[in-house]
Amino acid sequence: MKRILLLSSAVLLIATLLFVQHLRPKEVSADSFLMDTLVSIKVISSDEPEAKEAIDAALDAMQQLDNQLDRYENSPNNIIYQINQASGKEYISLPDNVLSLIQTALGVSEASQGAFDISVGVLVDLWKKSESEGALPSQSELAQTLSLVDYHAILLGDGNLMLERPGMSLDLGALAKGASADLARDTLLTHGITRGIIDAGGNIVVIGAKDDNTPWKIGIANPNLPGETMGFVEVADTAIVTAGTYQRFYSIQEEQYHHILSPFSGYPAEGLKSVTVLAESSTLADAISTAALVLGPEQGLNLIESYPGAEAILITDQDQVLFSSGAKQYFTLLQEESFYE
Ligand code: AMP
Ligand code: MG
Repeated sequence: MKRILLLSSAVLLIATLLFVQHLRPKEVSADSFLMDTLVSIKVISSDEPEAKEAIDAALDAMQQLDNQLDRYENSPNNIIYQINQASGKEYISLPDNVLSLIQTALGVSEASQGAFDISVGVLVDLWKKSESEGALPSQSELAQTLSLVDYHAILLGDGNLMLERPGMSLDLGALAKGASADLARDTLLTHGITRGIIDAGGNIVVIGAKDDNTPWKIGIANPNLPGETMGFVEVADTAIVTAGTYQRFYSIQEEQYHHILSPFSGYPAEGLKSVTVLAESSTLADAISTAALVLGPEQGLNLIESYPGAEAILITDQDQVLFSSGAKQYFTLLQEESFYE
């Protein structure tokens, strides 16, 4: 009798343990290659099937957004491709999500006096051509191209848009990954996810905190040694986006020219190596990090300060670390020496 009792309590104990184990939050993750970059999503949930479904839905939504925004891809849903084809000719009607993205972009163009300009498409193409031909763009090519980079000539009508001058070209690369990460967050939230992290090619959004007492810890790349971190931020429910001169290049005659271009000079922007922005919206963080990088240290910092709720850590060309007024509380710098190499 005693033995049976002992045995059944052991069975009960094991069953309880298995049940508790089942309820324990687990990490569920998936990766995908989207927007020319690696996207990864990790969620913490005690309902594994629900978590998998949520991640799949988020990746699907990101894929659809990518299909709308990739200006090189001629597909029926590709609104940016259609707008560029119709430049100087006709208005194209915009789905709400693209309209709202373009409104955000135009707002940042206004706030940065044109340093941020999604009509840089032709300038990006000029640098690509220069790279493939192995020669820097000439002054006349630059002047001709810059006459087609002007956000004032992005004509927004009632739910539709036309590029005023023939040859103009929209390129949403400066905020597309941010928008994609916001979309992934919204999709995960609708699927009941309360903790997770989305990394869309370095555009990070964290949902909730890592656990009840621990914020997410996100490393910030050392712009001098991009494979290594120079510090980290500790945050919950936030987007973290870095614009950096070390991220992409055009290689021309053994020199590297980075991918964030000044619409004023036509050349890669100077003055800052990287700008990391913390904000609720990843789209906005993506746009204003790129804008600040073009503006340089002083005006870049002013731009960030003009957005309530946004904070930033800026690394200048001289390796100075600058903080917006509320950024220090989130940020820890690892050894200074390692940052300077
Ligand atoms: P990001 O990587 O977010 O800093 O954005 C850089 C990308 O945005 C580039 O690869 C271009 O496609 C585009 N871009 C470059 N310069 C600018 C600019 N001044 N304003 C808006 N977009 C830009
Ligand atoms: Mg950006």
